[in-house]
Amino acid sequence: MLKIVKDNNPTLRERCAEVPLPLSEEHQRLIDEMLDELLLSQDPEYRKKHPSVREGVGLAAPQVGHNIRMLVISYPTGDEKNPLVQHQLVNPKIVVNSVKKCYLSNGEGCLSVDQEHPGYVYRDFKIVVQAYDAKAKEKVSITARGYDAIVLQHEIDHLNGVLFYDRIDKVDPFKKIPGSVEI
Ligand SMILES: [Zn+2]
Repeated sequence: MLKIVKDNNPTLRERCAEVPLPLSEEHQRLIDEMLDELLLSQDPEYRKKHPSVREGVGLAAPQVGHNIRMLVISYPTGDEKNPLVQHQLVNPKIVVNSVKKCYLSNGEGCLSVDQEHPGYVYRDFKIVVQAYDAKAKEKVSITARGYDAIVLQHEIDHLNGVLFYDRIDKVDPFKKIPGSVEI
């Protein structure tokens, strides 16, 4: 079991280092462990046994104590043809982003953040991310919209030392941005 770094730890605020490619066995093992850990967090039985673990849909390497640019994402889509979104990304880079914004109506959460931070977290509605995919073992280009784009941006933020609540308006946390999409 990997230990989750909480947001009182200043290491979560650092910019993470690029990972050398081709991926070393050690880094492949770590990103596989990260995915295992994320999937465990989604198992109700596991959470019952480990009450400190909360459910997540993504995990970035700095959240498990490694300040390098790797992240994993996994969640069901509810779509029969494409039932699962699952990524193991190394050195992800946002290469295209939309002007249009979106936000989760219930706000965002994070495995590293135990306190509630009410408010809207505005993100780009559409992004294109280029990365090395440690699952497919090749370079990939991912076009993501809405919820998929939000999860990717949340995890990529971790690689730059940014937490979701940094993006909540301090004066008016539930400010509406005209033209933004509620999800
Ligand atoms: Zn997070």
